Amino acid sequence: MKRTPPYVLLVTTLVAGLFVSSCNPRKAIMKSAVGDLASYFGPQEYDGSELVKLTDRVYTYRWTWYRSIVIDTEEGLVITDPFNSDAATALKKHLKEAGLTRPVHTLFYSHYHLDHTEGGAVLDPQEVVAHQKCPTYWADLDASRVLPPTKLIDGDQMLTIGGVEIQLLDLGKTHTDTLYAVYLPKERLLWTADFALVRTILPIGGPDYYFPGAIKAMERLAALDFDIFVPSHFGYGKKQDLVDYVDFLKYLQELGLRTMEKFGREVPRDRETLENAFSFFYDELEERYGDWHGFEQNVLFVVARTTTGVRLGY
Ligand SMILES: [Zn+2]
Repeated sequence: MKRTPPYVLLVTTLVAGLFVSSCNPRKAIMKSAVGDLASYFGPQEYDGSELVKLTDRVYTYRWTWYRSIVIDTEEGLVITDPFNSDAATALKKHLKEAGLTRPVHTLFYSHYHLDHTEGGAVLDPQEVVAHQKCPTYWADLDASRVLPPTKLIDGDQMLTIGGVEIQLLDLGKTHTDTLYAVYLPKERLLWTADFALVRTILPIGGPDYYFPGAIKAMERLAALDFDIFVPSHFGYGKKQDLVDYVDFLKYLQELGLRTMEKFGREVPRDRETLENAFSFFYDELEERYGDWHGFEQNVLFVVARTTTGVRLGY
């Protein structure tokens, strides 16, 4: 199916936006910037919460468009990211219903961001583990709803809890410099937070990513041996989904560089160059990733983020 040419779309959106803005500028800006949010955060797929069994010992817990894993070990449960007290309260209910009655042995924070680390007290864990740099960020914020870690770590960590081997992989400078992936070699499963998605374009262009570091870390994860890939947002999938996502990120960077070579290293000096550069990037990207979830809602951000990133080096 051929879409409307992107420059027509861009100009039409801007003109329509200006017209509607005379009535309600906030709505017009939202609409032209993020499109139809309801189709990105769709009600059927992402309302409420659920707990799904993935392997003998591992479950995935979804709360709205957030997703964690629960590992059922002989010594108790290991849970990644509480998100907030509402999410943690709903999780407790699901655990009880699924017969997972062992206490929470370890709560693990993937990175310092508050949308992943609040509400942990509801789960009453024996241990709370996080990257050692997390508290320095929390010191600058209102982190009163974050249950403080009992153990701070740095670098890769290999744990065995209740007979389950859990590898915590330090992802370095990526999405913050406090980010860990959780790899379960025997369960053949990888969980990552705010890092890669399953055939989904990341929200608002993934602004809080250091692309060079992210690509390095993703290539490292893609070389691991596993079957099930569980990201902290939207759906879960297979290892191939992570491999595809690494290709997507590398392609974005390469396409950004190619666009810059074709239309000039400097910030475009005139409207025509800006429109042509946008169309070039859009058309190439749409051909490969136009069917990924969230393409239409987030493509504008992705183009802006990538082209700025390659120009500035982040
Ligand atoms: Zn985050």
